[in-house]
Amino acid sequence: MFTPKNVHPYARKVLTRHLEARRRQLALPRHLTSGPAGASASDYEGMGLDGLTESQVQVRKAISAICRKFPDEYWAQKDIEGTYPNDLHRELANGGWIGICMPEAYGGSNLGISEAAVMLQTIAESGAGIAGAQTIHANVYAMQPVWTFATEEQRFRWLPPIIAGKQRACFAVTEPNTGLDTLRLQTNAVRQGDKYVVNGGKIWISSAQVAQKMVLLARTTPLSALEKPSEGLSLFFADIKEEDGVTPRKGIELRQISKMGGRAVDANQVFFDNFEVSAADRIGEEGKGFKQILHGMNAERCLLAGEALGLGHAALRRATRYASERIVFNRPIGQNQAIQHPLAQSWVDLEAAKLLTYNAARAYDDHVEGKGSAHTDLGARCNAAKYFAAEAAFKACERAVMSI
Ligand SMILES: Cc1cc2nc3c(=O)[nH]c(=O)nc-3n(C[C@H](O)[C@H](O)[C@H](O)COP(=O)(O)OP(=O)(O)OC[C@H]3O[C@@H](n4cnc5c(N)ncnc54)[C@H](O)[C@@H]3O)c2cc1C
Repeated sequence: MFTPKNVHPYARKVLTRHLEARRRQLALPRHLTSGPAGASASDYEGMGLDGLTESQVQVRKAISAICRKFPDEYWAQKDIEGTYPNDLHRELANGGWIGICMPEAYGGSNLGISEAAVMLQTIAESGAGIAGAQTIHANVYAMQPVWTFATEEQRFRWLPPIIAGKQRACFAVTEPNTGLDTLRLQTNAVRQGDKYVVNGGKIWISSAQVAQKMVLLARTTPLSALEKPSEGLSLFFADIKEEDGVTPRKGIELRQISKMGGRAVDANQVFFDNFEVSAADRIGEEGKGFKQILHGMNAERCLLAGEALGLGHAALRRATRYASERIVFNRPIGQNQAIQHPLAQSWVDLEAAKLLTYNAARAYDDHVEGKGSAHTDLGARCNAAKYFAAEAAFKACERAVMSI
């Protein structure tokens, strides 16, 4: 903060008042420059709420209240130690938030991806960033295909422990040899009586160290026997740990990947060596896994877009606060248009990203509710939201760093 020590008390008073006035005139939306100096990022709830529904606003308020318990120091410590944010997961589970878009009959809240995206945005925006979001996001988006295509028996068996936070799910699609080319993934699951035997490997699987369940996509019919590569993939909700919830089951090895950032949440290489999955844990029809996984990926795209919005706003908030407080040449650096304009432009980009994000999330929810006939372009909408929000957030973060 500016403390003009060497000036006459009257001049100091005038100068301070002048600086306050100038600060208010910064060419940025007013709520961006609010917030107490030196406060934690989680003290802030300022993104424009216009366009959000009443239930989205309620979610934002409730999640902000939870996130205040996890200040910036908590996240810095988790990143340094590389330890999982179990406290946030527990807090969200206790509040019923993990089941935000799962049906009430199994303990969920029956809201939609529209509300879940707000929840993830608010978590990321609080200062928790992607580590905070990753603490629960797979338990929300990856559970969409699980509950949608599961039988009643499976839903009653699978959903309550996830919603209560007693079990966690990870999402296993990416493979080292195929990357984005999901249709050519090589992990195979061969039916043998009442079980499948899985061989192959996955990479970059987040939270596998703490998860007891895995949403696993594997090939059950060889590509060579099919006309369409989109067929012959099957989805499983597999048990990956022993009864203690910690020890990997026979046939699966989890090897943690060392990361430079986002260290609180583990990423893993996964090796399957005759790993057995009960046939009762296959989701829906055999060979229809690709369509099912897209249902989860569209939800993921909306949530990631929300998380990007949160990151972008958190970065802008930090930068604008700094720009209003940092005095160089006897005035806040935020009075310079070279500082103001890029940040203001990023705010506009994030506002545009907000529209795309919540439009895509609404289209997803309409689709789930059977009102989807108008949204044949659902995948494109969800992808566009994720792409645009990620670009806007990246730019906002880059500009924030350049301003600081
Ligand atoms: C921290 C972290 C956590 C992750 N968590 C999970 C998880 O929990 N579960 C999971 O399944 N996966 C996870 N992933 C994997 C992530 O989704 C993949 O990295 C992603 O799908 C891309 O695969 P790849 O890295 O092999 O990239 P590649 O497929 O090798 O692509 C490399 C680059 O080439 C570009 N490219 C590829 N093909 C084309 C093309 N046809 N046209 C133009 N450009 C192209 C890509 O856009 C990319 O820029 C995680 C990744 C990271 C880094």
